[in-house]
Amino acid sequence: MTKIPFLDLSAQYRELKPELDEAMARVLLECAFVGGEELQAFEQSFAKYLGATSCIGVGNGTDALEIALEALELPPGSEVIVPANSFIATAEAVTRAGHRVVFCDCDPDSYTLSVADAARRVGAATRAIIPVHLYGQPCDMDGVRQLADAHGLKVIEDCAQAHGAEFRGRKVGTFGELAAFSFYPGKNLGAYGDGGAIVSCDERLATRCRMIANHGRIAKYDHEFEGRNSRLDGLQAAVLRVKLRHLERWTESRRLHAAHYGALLEGSPVLAPREIRERRHVYHLYVVRVEERERVQQKLREAGIDSGVHYPIALPFLKAYRRLGHREEDFPVAASYQGKLLSLPLFPELGRQQIERVCGVLHSLG
Ligand SMILES: *Cc1c(COP(=O)(O)O)cnc(C)c1O
Repeated sequence: MTKIPFLDLSAQYRELKPELDEAMARVLLECAFVGGEELQAFEQSFAKYLGATSCIGVGNGTDALEIALEALELPPGSEVIVPANSFIATAEAVTRAGHRVVFCDCDPDSYTLSVADAARRVGAATRAIIPVHLYGQPCDMDGVRQLADAHGLKVIEDCAQAHGAEFRGRKVGTFGELAAFSFYPGKNLGAYGDGGAIVSCDERLATRCRMIANHGRIAKYDHEFEGRNSRLDGLQAAVLRVKLRHLERWTESRRLHAAHYGALLEGSPVLAPREIRERRHVYHLYVVRVEERERVQQKLREAGIDSGVHYPIALPFLKAYRRLGHREEDFPVAASYQGKLLSLPLFPELGRQQIERVCGVLHSLG
C-alpha cells in the first residue's frame, strides 16, 4: 500500500527541475544573493499578477505582517482585531508592533473572520483589523471594508494562505491598505526557505514598508529612522519567479481536487468545506469537519494517509494569550470547531485515485 502524504513538495521540484536549477545557478554565478535583478523582477511580476501597484519582498510572512502594522504608525496600544481561528503569526505581529490583540469569532460557514462579531468588538481604541483569507478562501471583504470605513479602521489582509484567491473577481491583497504574503515552502506559492512580501496600492505606505525593512533607508547610508533588516533573498526570488508562472495552473488543479473531494464526500460522515459565492477559494488547505477526530485520523493513518489539523487550539485559548482571560463562551464558533477540524491531503500533484482512496476510508468510518 503506497502512502498518501499530506503534502509532496518533491513532486513539484521534479516537474520544474531544469527551470529552477537554471534560475538558481544564475543567481549563484552573478552572486546576486541580496537584492538584485531577480528580486526586482519578482516583486514587479507578483504585484502585476495581483493587480497591486507595489510589492516589497521581506524575510517571511510574519515579518510582512509586523512591518505592515508598523508602517501604519498607529498610536501605541491601539487595538487590532484578529480572527480567533488563524496561525499565531497574525496575532503575534500585533503585539510585536506594540498594540493590543482583540480576537473575534469566525463565521460558521466559511471559517474566516465573522464581520458581525468583529463589529461587536470595535471600541474607542480600535484602529485596525486583520482579515485572514483562511485555508485559501477570501473573507467577506465587502463586509470588512464597510466595517473599517464606518469606524476609520485600517485593513491589513493576511494573505499567507491565499495567493491568487479572489473576492468578486478581484485578487485578495488589493482590498486592504496593506497585505501580507508568506512564501513558506508549503504555501501555495512557496520558496525553498523562508520568504514573504508586503503588497499595497498605496505608494506612500509601500515606501514606508520598504524603508522599515531596510534599516529606515532608501539610499545606502541615509537612514531616516531606525528600521530593521528583513529581506527576500536573491535565490528565493529566483525560485518564486519561476514558480509564479505556474501558480494559476496549480491553483486550478487544487480547485479540481477540491471539487472531486466535495462530490465524493457527499453522504459521508464528514462535512466538506463550503465555497461561498463570488469567492475564488485556492484551497491552500482542504479542511473538513468531523466528530471523533482522533479516531478518524487513526483510521486514515492505518490506511497510509497523512492528515493535519489547522488549528487544534484557537488563538484565544492558547497559553500565549492566557493573559487575556478568555473563555470558550467568548468565541462559541471557534471553540466548538477546534476539536473537529481536519485537513485532508491536497496539493496540485495529488492523483484522483488518491482522493478516491481517502474518501473511501471516510465513508467506511462506521
Ligand atoms: C504561514 C502563515 C503566516 C506566517 O508566515 P511565515 O512565512 O511562516 O512567517 C501568517 N499567517 C498565516 C495565516 C499563515 O498561514
